[in-house]
Amino acid sequence: MPQTITLTLSPKQAADTKFYTSLAARRLGISDTQIALIRVVKRSIDARSRAVKVNLSLEVFVDGDAQPEPLHFDYPNVAGATPVAIIGSGPAGLFAALRLIELGLRPMIFERGRDVSTRKTDIATINRGGDVNPDSNYAFGEGGAGTYSDGKLFTRSKKRGDYNKALQTLVYYGASPEILYEAHPHIGTDKLPYIIAAIRKRVIECGGSFHFDSRVTDIIIKNGRACGVMIGDTAVEAAAVVVATGHSARDIYRMLHAKGVLLEAKPFAMGVRIEHPQRLIDSIQYHMPERGEYLPAAAYSLVNQVGGRGVYSFCMCPGGFIVPAMTSAEESVVNGMSPSHRGSPYANSAIVTEVRPEDFAHLHEEFGVLAGLEFQTRFEHAARAAGGERQVAPAQRVSDFVAGRASHTLPKTSYIPGITCSRLDEWMPDFIATSLRKGIESFGRRMRGFVTSDAVVIGVESRTSTPVRIPRDKQTLMHPTVEMLFPAGEGAGYAGGIISAALDGERIAEAVKAQIG
Ligand SMILES: Cc1cc2nc3c(=O)[nH]c(=O)nc-3n(C[C@H](O)[C@H](O)[C@H](O)COP(=O)(O)OP(=O)(O)OC[C@H]3O[C@@H](n4cnc5c(N)ncnc54)[C@H](O)[C@@H]3O)c2cc1C
Repeated sequence: MPQTITLTLSPKQAADTKFYTSLAARRLGISDTQIALIRVVKRSIDARSRAVKVNLSLEVFVDGDAQPEPLHFDYPNVAGATPVAIIGSGPAGLFAALRLIELGLRPMIFERGRDVSTRKTDIATINRGGDVNPDSNYAFGEGGAGTYSDGKLFTRSKKRGDYNKALQTLVYYGASPEILYEAHPHIGTDKLPYIIAAIRKRVIECGGSFHFDSRVTDIIIKNGRACGVMIGDTAVEAAAVVVATGHSARDIYRMLHAKGVLLEAKPFAMGVRIEHPQRLIDSIQYHMPERGEYLPAAAYSLVNQVGGRGVYSFCMCPGGFIVPAMTSAEESVVNGMSPSHRGSPYANSAIVTEVRPEDFAHLHEEFGVLAGLEFQTRFEHAARAAGGERQVAPAQRVSDFVAGRASHTLPKTSYIPGITCSRLDEWMPDFIATSLRKGIESFGRRMRGFVTSDAVVIGVESRTSTPVRIPRDKQTLMHPTVEMLFPAGEGAGYAGGIISAALDGERIAEAVKAQIG
């Protein structure tokens, strides 16, 4: 049996394997040479006091201890097995596919966008201010919204499934083993596409199929039972249909609504991206002018209540970039991503506030259950207009936004299409502008220097969560009124983030298996 030991070290010591191996040996009363294997099982940074510390939990195997087995997954060949249609190849769709294979069913993945490498060229076009391909962009395409992202893997919903298995699956397909022990693991946008492609390869090797440029335009429902999908004029039959289309697939919500499939309005969140110099965030969080070579780019997580409404930071990307994440040329939508080394000189994060059904009650009569979707769309259109009907995004210095005055110049930004001065409170709904202003002001009291003219707020961050739920039965996880229709992931309203969507996809695969047998 390995022994577990926790050491509290300086960042430099924690980066020195020889140092901590010797220290662990001394603490355990053995010599260095008796250690057959030492592995980190948890690493976290404690920056609460002046001197930043790293807590390292280690498993120490001495000669004779059975060593851990290398990762291995068993995927049977499912070529002739019962077919299950999965709409969308985001984390929910991909993890549903892998789990279906483990359970002996044959996944057929229909993806409106392109494979990860072709998708890159569409994204480059958007960054240059060119056309937005409505089927291939930062939200749509192989791997879903998380492919070109920071790849943060932390989730608050670990109880929803086997979190460790999900991380191990990602390592199996090429992620760094560090994600297994980091307190806040992330993969990085430079590595994610390779992992996604490796999953696709395995699904195909096992007899599953991938169909790119295949936007599902309808779901075939006969006698209250989903039995296939339409891609334009082509019908594909399946024993079950998993809808894992993410929260940007507005056409899917509209199609389901038009067919009379039950949907529900839900609260969601919208706001802005905020961007600071990473050095500033490092100096606030680590209490030192320079973080040096042994500490990662610092992150933060902030939350407050403003007039009974939550305001919080979300999807923080240390050492990252702000990206144009719209799915149509009429919208302005921003989001954030980081490479694995998180080496950019900028730190960005969403700062969003709750949007409740009563906030868009005025749209209910005309848009019914899709009123929230309309409210979200109008917010994005307003941002586009404020940016001059281009990919250029409206922006304001943080100190000006908090003080309620216009900015006449802006600091440098990582946002490639560029930013332009705009008073955000002049075109945002009042309750959003007020919540954000007061929220950011309060964050400035918690992190001295957060409210500064060197930082900028950029509009708009509107796709943090879906305004519409595709409901499901608590027991069967099927849609309550359409048999064999399985809503999954973030677009269905049951996940928020890469890992929770992946875990939800696995759960849905198990629910499909329970029905098919
Ligand atoms: C830039 C960016 C950065 C992000 N960073 C992080 C992060 O660091 N950590 C984190 O946890 N989360 C992050 N997120 C959020 C995360 O990506 C999502 O929560 C997650 O991808 C949701 O997974 P999903 O499978 O439910 O849906 P999605 O990933 O949205 O996948 C849905 C898929 O369905 C496809 N689709 C939609 N409609 C159709 C149709 N009609 N026919 C066929 N296919 C269709 C889409 O093309 C897409 O590939 C980020 C998102 C963005 C945009």
